Amino acid sequence: MSKIKKYITRDGSMRIAAVISTEIANEAFSFREASPLVKTLMSRAVTGALLMASQMKENLAVGLHFTGIGPVKEIFAEARYEGKAKVYAGDRGAELVPGETHLGAGLGEGFLEVVRSLPFQKEPHRGTVGLLTGEIGEDIAYYLQQSQQIPCIVALSAIPSEKGIEIAGGYILELMPGYSEETLSKLESLQPLVGSLTQKLKTGAQAEDLIGIYLDHFDFQEIEHPFELSYECGCSLERVERSLLLLGPSVLDDMITSQEDAVIHCEFCGKEYRLKVPHLSSLRDSLRAPLH
Ligand SMILES: [Zn+2]
Repeated sequence: MSKIKKYITRDGSMRIAAVISTEIANEAFSFREASPLVKTLMSRAVTGALLMASQMKENLAVGLHFTGIGPVKEIFAEARYEGKAKVYAGDRGAELVPGETHLGAGLGEGFLEVVRSLPFQKEPHRGTVGLLTGEIGEDIAYYLQQSQQIPCIVALSAIPSEKGIEIAGGYILELMPGYSEETLSKLESLQPLVGSLTQKLKTGAQAEDLIGIYLDHFDFQEIEHPFELSYECGCSLERVERSLLLLGPSVLDDMITSQEDAVIHCEFCGKEYRLKVPHLSSLRDSLRAPLH
């Protein structure tokens, strides 16, 4: 699997993270396919989460939860600093209504909630913005600009293929506190020359090629980010039991009365959990236990 490339200018005024995320995104479709629309949005979301997480600190994670009134309903991507990530969509089969060409209509009007774990704190930081376009990249940029009040560029692209996706990748460029006006205007003057990210991906670009123009025009140094990307879910029988308990006693009673095994598929990795009726009964009984 590939790695994230990270750079910071020697004066500390700008940083970039770039990645080719084709393999890790494809893991999300290895157990269950999705429509081209949903594959594109999911791939962009997991790429964005990986890039954001790479700028955090060890053991920290970021979750991006996009929810909207469109047919996709929601997309959730989570990534850790160490390059582990997972993603799911509310409706994998969702398509745009005929005649609609704007990908962002898949999510439609809605919100992006960003959940970041913080060093030495139990409770994560949560921030929410309205969706700007629903196309993922612009929404992440909008969130970063709103939360940090500093200009940034988020470019994410994914090209769906018949099976999984053909290629995915992107970068996040952020100005840092104390950046100069000169840096900003130089950055703006480069924008017409940046070119299409999708085109670069199609022609086999490496992560550093996606941001070549910035590396050429600013005094960047690379920051080693040694982690190989890996798709990791972290689901377990214990978590499934906990989510069943959250459904409450009456739902559990109905399941027990039906005398059928409960079959639960993990939304992130497709793993199947089968709970037999006696197992469900013991879970139900645990809800009756007196509180201490
Ligand atoms: Zn799982």
